[in-house]
Amino acid sequence: MWNRLFACFLLCLIVGSCTRKVAIKSLQSATDVFAIASHGTLEKRDKMYCDDALAYAPYESEKAWTDHRKIRVNFHVMNDTIGDKNFPDTEETYIYFRKLVENANERLGNNKKMNLPIGNNTPNLKPRYSYVLTPNSQAKNDRGVYFHYDNDLYYFINKGKNRNNYSKDVIRKYGVHVDSILNIFVLPHHPDSIASDTYGAFGTGIALGTSVKVAGLYDGKLNFWDYATLLNHEIGHVFGLNHSWTKTDGCNDTPAHPNCWSGNGRAPCDGEVVSNNVMDYNANQMAITPCQLGRVHRKIAKESSKKRGLVIPNWCDPVTDQSIVINSNVEWAGAKDLRKDIVILNGASLTISCRLSLARGRKIVIKKGGQLILNGGRIHNACGDQWGGIMVEKDKENPAIIKNGEVLLEDMPQA
Ligand SMILES: [Zn+2]
Repeated sequence: MWNRLFACFLLCLIVGSCTRKVAIKSLQSATDVFAIASHGTLEKRDKMYCDDALAYAPYESEKAWTDHRKIRVNFHVMNDTIGDKNFPDTEETYIYFRKLVENANERLGNNKKMNLPIGNNTPNLKPRYSYVLTPNSQAKNDRGVYFHYDNDLYYFINKGKNRNNYSKDVIRKYGVHVDSILNIFVLPHHPDSIASDTYGAFGTGIALGTSVKVAGLYDGKLNFWDYATLLNHEIGHVFGLNHSWTKTDGCNDTPAHPNCWSGNGRAPCDGEVVSNNVMDYNANQMAITPCQLGRVHRKIAKESSKKRGLVIPNWCDPVTDQSIVINSNVEWAGAKDLRKDIVILNGASLTISCRLSLARGRKIVIKKGGQLILNGGRIHNACGDQWGGIMVEKDKENPAIIKNGEVLLEDMPQA
């Protein structure tokens, strides 16, 4: 009796909504959970189900459980020892790169509707990722923009016998925490290339692992905002996006097309509409589709991905003053890393079929009449901590937890 009252008192403290009459069961281990779970006979979800890019798209209706992610970035300005081939080491240059990041975030956040296919109704969802200029140290002069003078590695050549665009040498030599910060190397085109009539010394780039090389910013002598979508394009590559004019980019909402920069009146670019997708080469690059956004978030959610390390792991910091409230029948496809308690209300159900990480101490609370369906899937803490277990309001009529197939419950308070 006293145990029961004490448990109720605890839950009152935690969820603030029980009365003395409602008994609460606190499940602190996988054994506790499986002991009260009813056996289910649902269709088992396969790996493809948890890997579907659209399961990670930031739909407005899923906002409560689609957190914003911040990708750390820094810049390396490469120059020769004369020092006149690229941006100088000045306050203005720092401001240029800071504004470039701000503008890239703004353009990403201002996602436009797709031009193609004509007549499409592809939604332009609000992206839930952005970039943060990140220093490597607390040093006063470290603001995440670095200057290097190196006659062998300072330049970028993307065609011809000396082409070095695919070379990682400059990243190996000057990269700063390439496992946790997306290093962006800003290189000038080689002076010999610029002198050639056949070499286009325009803004270009390449993604190499967790880093990016971009060229043509200084030589092009344009404003910072002219390169913001180049940054979005290259960072898109880092997070798993392919060129979208092809049929094989892994997205059904990005139709194949001739990849015209703009309409020029000549076939095949004589149509009324050219693409505005960020992963094509076009003058606009302001649209990113649900599938593309889903692919980025899927990459971030993939535990084994090196790209996940570039993201500030805010999923490790619990949010204690808010909950995710489930008030209908919801199934979570795709892996999730969440920071808040999850409360399943009376008449609602939450089906977990994939990976779910809950931040330190966060719980799943099943109100009387609510249901948690563990359909395969795995609940754990992705940060080396423990999540808080499951609190169940006693309900004689309905099983609060249904277990279907093999379920993994890890990192609970009691092993
Ligand atoms: Zn590209």
